[in-house]
Amino acid sequence: MFDVAIIGAGPAGMSAAIYARRAGLSVAVFEGEMCGGQMILTPDVENYPGFTHISGAELSFSMSEQMKSLGAKLIESRVQAVKANEHYTVCTSDGDFESKTLIIANGAKRKRLGIAGEEKFSGRGVSYCAVCDGMFFKGKTVCVVGGGNTALEDAVYLAGICEKVYLIHRRDEFRAKGMLVEKVKAAENIEILYSAVPTEIFGDSRVKSLRVKDASGERDIETSAVFVAIGLVPENGIFEGLVSLADGYILASDDTHTSREGVFAAGDTRTKSLRQIITAAADGATAATEAEKYLHG
Ligand code: NAP
Repeated sequence: MFDVAIIGAGPAGMSAAIYARRAGLSVAVFEGEMCGGQMILTPDVENYPGFTHISGAELSFSMSEQMKSLGAKLIESRVQAVKANEHYTVCTSDGDFESKTLIIANGAKRKRLGIAGEEKFSGRGVSYCAVCDGMFFKGKTVCVVGGGNTALEDAVYLAGICEKVYLIHRRDEFRAKGMLVEKVKAAENIEILYSAVPTEIFGDSRVKSLRVKDASGERDIETSAVFVAIGLVPENGIFEGLVSLADGYILASDDTHTSREGVFAAGDTRTKSLRQIITAAADGATAATEAEKYLHG
């Protein structure tokens, strides 16, 4: 029986583990992929205090090392279900684990475009991770879709590897922060297509072109890859019935309390206004502290 079971090892889950271990609680962290979550997919982190610049992968590695060195048990399994009885049972493909409290920190996943060709060419030119796949397209032309921080960061990263980057955004104004917009506009090999939406991806065994529609009609852009960065979607289906959800996110306030006692939600998975590494880390610290208070009455 663990004091705290943490589902997800992104910045929220790992911070929760660090705080819970430092409070003397026994901690299990469940992660079905690599530690880091969305953070590990981020090429350059430039807004986490203490680091003028660090890659998402480096920051993920250093957080996971800190968490493990403090004695949190990392269980590298995907959580399939959670049962609430007297305590909580976390069910994974590697068995069931009991815990007195639960911190849900499973983050969110990249949204799909939902256009023809996207699924067919997924992994064959369609990518949701510029850091993971960018090098496959060294010296080539690629497209990035989206107008948020992720899309613009991806475009800047890819511009350093690829010959040309088309950045395709559905409006005439970016929602990404100003410094990133300036970087994108300053890059000579990024061409911005405003008020344009992708409608279909074509290819043979790999992506060859992307059809884009704007006010003047449709045109096909020759491209080797389409990087999709159009936002996040929560994946909280397994928690329906356990806690209340709102638009798929776990309903929780800044104190991370959910609709069920003893269950806390931290980071991108919960209802919140600012989804950043630092706010996820802050949530993790809060959730661990609230779990400790709950355990100690
Ligand atoms: P986001 O901020 O939600 O932006 C999504 C972008 O994709 C928006 O520009 C949106 O257009 C566009 N979009 C959405 N659906 C679309 C569709 N079906 N077709 C075409 N375009 C579509 O998502 P994100 O950039 O992935 O960021 C997610 C969260 O992480 C945000 O809170 C963000 O601030 C944070 N983040 C922060 C950093 C950082 O601080 N360095 C880095 C990465 C991410 P509209 O603008 O028209 O809605």
